Amino acid sequence: MQGEFPALASLPEANERNVTVRVDRSGQRALRKRHPWLFESGIREQSHEGRPGDLAVVFDRARKFLAIGLYDPGSPIRVRVLHAGKPTPIDASFFSRRFAELAARRADLQRQGTDAYRLVNGDNEGMAGLVVDRYAQTLVVKLYTPAWLPHLRSALHALLQVTAAERVVLRLSRDVSSRTSELYGLADGTLIYGAELDGPLTFQENGLRFECDPVRGQKTGFFLDQRDNRSRLETLVRGGELLNAFSYTGGFSLYAARGGARNIISLDQSAPALAASERNFALNRSDTSIATAKHQTMEADVFEALPQMQDAGRRFDALVIDPPALAKRQDEVDRARAAYARLVANGVALLRPGGLLVMASCSARIDRESFFELVHRAAHDSGRPIDELARATEPIDHPVGFSEGAYLKCLFARVR
Ligand code: SAH
Repeated sequence: MQGEFPALASLPEANERNVTVRVDRSGQRALRKRHPWLFESGIREQSHEGRPGDLAVVFDRARKFLAIGLYDPGSPIRVRVLHAGKPTPIDASFFSRRFAELAARRADLQRQGTDAYRLVNGDNEGMAGLVVDRYAQTLVVKLYTPAWLPHLRSALHALLQVTAAERVVLRLSRDVSSRTSELYGLADGTLIYGAELDGPLTFQENGLRFECDPVRGQKTGFFLDQRDNRSRLETLVRGGELLNAFSYTGGFSLYAARGGARNIISLDQSAPALAASERNFALNRSDTSIATAKHQTMEADVFEALPQMQDAGRRFDALVIDPPALAKRQDEVDRARAAYARLVANGVALLRPGGLLVMASCSARIDRESFFELVHRAAHDSGRPIDELARATEPIDHPVGFSEGAYLKCLFARVR
């Protein structure tokens, strides 16, 4: 298989010697509940110190087989489980079966004018540490542990069999990127299969066309997880003016334009993202509603721009606030909650009576209930209470498989 993927030629073969691990009570409890992570602290004994990507065969306290997964000595998540229950070899045919199952679960999406979706949702779907997003004929493989590297060739082989994709780009999480001595020369953005892109990549979502940059773009190039929320926005705008805060490449803006919004401002601090939002409008000019909508971009910090617009007397009929994860660590939660509340208060102040607020959070550390309550309270305390229309969470291609896997919340409401 070596010759098939020249960019992966320096990767080692998977080690034939497995690490055997015996869990303690806490580790056993977690894995029995099908949690995908075995922490270092949940291990009672092990055969030897393994290398990143060795297979770890995990036994319970009575020395019966519990699970098999990828060993990573460089992470407190020491084993990421790939399979629990009966013993199963982890090889190319295991990956093929798994990818085929996951692709089948997404079959309905493809019938809806959508050729971009998350094909593999990592830890939530039995593929701990591996995310695969599909953008038309390009796959983006994102690794959250270097333990995948010795298995990357066989996983890639299986992925190509299942998807017949033409190109695969490798993305690495920040943690993985920083472990340069363990990456065999690979880096975030390396093309690992197929031809270099000779222009922007384009794909379709619910019949709208978008470009994205899978090599340099945020996440894997696009925020696929907001697809259903963008669709819902389209049905709720009633003409008028929309402000899309944290707009990135204009996803919500395009749906709003197709839904009838006449004046749209995409607001973000990233100039390249805003430039892409303009190109995305141009890509969809065949839709008369989009062609006739007035779209403007505004490069600014949302936290500063909202109060400034309020002072300047700007008002809108709809407002989308979709910030990046504001609490990436536990010690950031309080500050993040305060920041969400400030965005809501400054946001509702910009809405005309009856105006639509779409408020999202992708911070996994802030749970659903408390987020929705926070939004209501912040609106109420600022004197503009809201009537709730809908609460949304993850779409079907981002299923949640364990409690820490839940992260997305989005409230739709109208201000009184
Ligand atoms: N709503 C988008 C995704 C938003 S991602 C979509 O549907 O595709 C978050 C965006 O917030 C990124 O584009 C990032 O550049 C931007 N951002 C982060 N902090 C910001 C700030 N303080 N002010 C303005 N934009 C910010």
